[in-house]
Amino acid sequence: MQGKKYIKNIENGIDDFKNSEMKIRQIDQVSSEVLVVSWEDGDQSFLFLKKLRANCPCAACKDERENADPLKVLAYDPDSLELKRWRWVGRYAIALDWSDGHNTGIYTYEYLRELSE
Ligand SMILES: [Zn+2]
Repeated sequence: MQGKKYIKNIENGIDDFKNSEMKIRQIDQVSSEVLVVSWEDGDQSFLFLKKLRANCPCAACKDERENADPLKVLAYDPDSLELKRWRWVGRYAIALDWSDGHNTGIYTYEYLRELSE
């Protein structure tokens, strides 16, 4: 009987996980380098713009990271990088518009959590 109870608890745990849909309450750029995402559960994620851009999830950037040539110069200057704005993408992601015109990266909430400090 005890084994059965244990399985039941795991099932409940999975249900809890499915139900805990992450939602963003607010996004603030608090300095030229840091974006703060406030989650609905009260949690806050601090995201460095440099790190966000360096881990841009768009296909072109991904490809570049995977085939990285250590001698290659970055296509953008990380020190003069500015975030122009962000856009909501559905209810699960945001897209970032960078000052150099790059805007194809779509960051899911999950990915934002991963990149946060
Ligand atoms: Zn990109």
